[in-house]
Amino acid sequence: MTVHIASKITKLQLNHPFKISRRATDAYREVISVEIDGGIGEAAPAKFYGETVQTVETALENLSSAFGGNLDEIQDVMAGIESTLGGNYAAKSAIDMALHDRLGKKLGVPLYKLWGLNPQKTPCTSFTIGLDEPSVMAEKALQAEAYPILKVKLGTSCDIEVLQTLRNVTDKPIYVDANTAWTPKEAIEKIHQLAQYGVELIEQPTKPDDIAGLKYVREYSELPIIADESVKRASDIPALAGAVDGINIKLVKCGGLLEALQMIHVARAHGLLVMLGCMIESSLGITAAAHLTPLVDYADLDGNLLISNDPYIGVTLDKGKLILPDRPGIGVLTTT
Ligand code: MG
Repeated sequence: MTVHIASKITKLQLNHPFKISRRATDAYREVISVEIDGGIGEAAPAKFYGETVQTVETALENLSSAFGGNLDEIQDVMAGIESTLGGNYAAKSAIDMALHDRLGKKLGVPLYKLWGLNPQKTPCTSFTIGLDEPSVMAEKALQAEAYPILKVKLGTSCDIEVLQTLRNVTDKPIYVDANTAWTPKEAIEKIHQLAQYGVELIEQPTKPDDIAGLKYVREYSELPIIADESVKRASDIPALAGAVDGINIKLVKCGGLLEALQMIHVARAHGLLVMLGCMIESSLGITAAAHLTPLVDYADLDGNLLISNDPYIGVTLDKGKLILPDRPGIGVLTTT
């Protein structure tokens, strides 16, 4: 029996134009949602990893005729997809998410319960401030009053000035994400200065493939180093052990909840910290990821907070702490 995969592209409007070190400013972001036998999922593909909503759509069309079997057996279904569809991890993530949502609904339990997790153990999410003039970033930090942790995008000649300006308006914990912008030497100098401003961790200071560079930075860094662009799937983790202090897992990089769960365990076996991150996504993708957060140290699940036309309601925040819905499956409701 083959199963139909329905898909739909949605344009998410951003509250503020969003910029990081390697990209021009975005005003909106496209995501693609899928529906499989009553289960729903979403992918927010990133060009950096070679995917767009169009490549996801094509992958889903190519897969549709070969997709089937017992959908309850998500491990087997995803293994089958892995062998027929190379790459396309955002597409796989949307399917994996829909299958988990479907199974949770069928069994009448939320995802966290499928995995035996304690929903009280969720962390606070950080709230991201995109790259801009230091004064504009400070203004955004002021507007982010509701969120107890800030994640600040850096990677320009103004990096230290940004932190000085932010510290004039807030004493909240700050995570810094350089999105690969620094050389190893530059990173060590900047981290040394940033440590004076109460920064808690540094995400991806240097180029993704330069593991030796990361290791060098870590050796001289006062702050924990978290790999993001350097780590996509569980098989990437062993090479990073000893070179970084932790990893940032994202569903669209790794191919879904099953692989993310595996990554968490592999990271722990290597003594690494774990952050669960996101792209700009609706509450569908964010809520699916949030169900895994009782297992992680840091959550950076704010993609849904950066948009003005979220089609879903799901995970909510209580003073920044993630509150998981207790409805079956992912547990989102549509807003329209
Ligand atoms: Mg990052």
